[in-house]
Amino acid sequence: MSGHSLLRRVNDGEPDQDRLRGCAVGAVVGDALGMPLEFGPMIPADRLVREMRRGRLPAGTFTDDTEMALALAASLRDSSGLDAEDVAKAFVAWHKSGPPDEGIHTRLVLEAIADGKSWRAAARNIDPSSAGNGSLMRCWPVALAFGSDLESTLLASRTQSEITHAHPDCLAACAFVNAALWHLVRGHQRHEAVALALDHAGVTGELQAVVEGAPGRTRTELMNSGWVRHTVEAAVWGLLSTDNFEEAVVQVVNLGNDADTAGSVVGALAGAAYGLDAIPVRWRQAVRGEWPVRSGRYLGQQDLIDLADALSSRARR
Ligand SMILES: [Mg+2]
Repeated sequence: MSGHSLLRRVNDGEPDQDRLRGCAVGAVVGDALGMPLEFGPMIPADRLVREMRRGRLPAGTFTDDTEMALALAASLRDSSGLDAEDVAKAFVAWHKSGPPDEGIHTRLVLEAIADGKSWRAAARNIDPSSAGNGSLMRCWPVALAFGSDLESTLLASRTQSEITHAHPDCLAACAFVNAALWHLVRGHQRHEAVALALDHAGVTGELQAVVEGAPGRTRTELMNSGWVRHTVEAAVWGLLSTDNFEEAVVQVVNLGNDADTAGSVVGALAGAAYGLDAIPVRWRQAVRGEWPVRSGRYLGQQDLIDLADALSSRARR
């Protein structure tokens, strides 16, 4: 079906507040649950981790995935539209704050921008072939911030990626996930939201095949590396091969490897699909992190709910 015919079917009504909140809290919960499993092996199916555990950070603590999303969200909240200069500045400020984690490619790009290179040139000059998941992990705030304007949502999703990850797969993955979030918060069913998102984001070729093949994969086939295609594959698999928030996130983080990033992406999707109330209370209550980095201030569930509300009310201004 062509994009044009599908666009006519778009329900561009008001998003559901519980789903908007679920997206934000779900992303952060997924990041924190995956944190202790990052870089580890796949967990055997009969020993899946279902509780927040201590890793290199205390149990329930979010990582760079959430920190970069919070930096992007703060810029979105205070700008009209997506101001790429301002977002780049916010990322550089985060980089300079000495975060506990920072992707290698992201660090090199942000160092170049800090040294005066334009954000338009920095990512392309560092390594144009880099197709990691570092822009996908932080893209969800854009899906909450542009209201019914799907075209602007897709454009801003790509632009925020370009600042550090300019590879076409990274841009397409961010547009795809945010299009799926956009449909999910408006009440579309999971399979339908994924199909609509592929079409609206213009995803074709190998990335499209990855998404369409994901629900039919078995867990042992999933690499869940830092490659953006693997993250999209794991997140779509988790969303479509389970039927509740907890199982979607548990299945994905227990793949190990880039567990926190895939956990964050599936957490955003499943939170948008099932809503805040469907996220286990024990996880919501455990989630925390220092923000801004080294500020001595800590964010928890209520701050994330307030952030989701602020982004979505900005969209209505
Ligand atoms: Mg991380």
